[in-house]
Amino acid sequence: MNYYGEYVTKLIEQFGKLPGIGGRTAQRLAFYVLNMPKENAEALAQSIVEAREHVKYCSCCCNLTDVDPCPVCGSSKRDQNQIMVVESPRDMAAYEKTKDYRGVYHVLHGLISPMDGISPNDIRIRELLARINENTREVILAMASTIEGDTTAMYIARLIALNNDGVKVSRIAKGVPVGGELEYVDQMTLATALRGRFEINTGKEPEEDEDN
Ligand code: ZN
Repeated sequence: MNYYGEYVTKLIEQFGKLPGIGGRTAQRLAFYVLNMPKENAEALAQSIVEAREHVKYCSCCCNLTDVDPCPVCGSSKRDQNQIMVVESPRDMAAYEKTKDYRGVYHVLHGLISPMDGISPNDIRIRELLARINENTREVILAMASTIEGDTTAMYIARLIALNNDGVKVSRIAKGVPVGGELEYVDQMTLATALRGRFEINTGKEPEEDEDN
């Protein structure tokens, strides 16, 4: 039943397609937008169109960027031979805020999750392997310690061991709460997890820290 007319219904439908937005929230957002001053609503629509138009994936690290390569990959102050692998651009931003890391990143845009039908080919693992070479000093696997994070880390570690034997592969320490999303972890905890990273010995399970 169409209570609101064509335009409102269409707007509600569009909000309803966003992740985590149910029918009631979609309605609330639609009415909120309709009550906004016209310029604000136009600015919102415009920023969606512009972001979609101009933002692309960095051809090196796969992060979202306006310029290619992105500012981190293009910086001479960053150590291009130390690559930190993260799940999402949000996680990268969280590590950047710690100001504790001078290497570069690789953004996977997801984690392997057979339960959700996400296979290694659905995330940016191929692009990661393509950029690892004999100059690469270390690959830091910095996904959260969830089942998906650990699965993805072990998968990548084994592939690197097969293709680029000699590259050091490490995993962040478990200072990050299990199941915790990196974005919500405070900067001190992230910095500690990074400093306490341990080398992964592939072929075996990752060794625990000596203090554990
Ligand atoms: Zn980049």
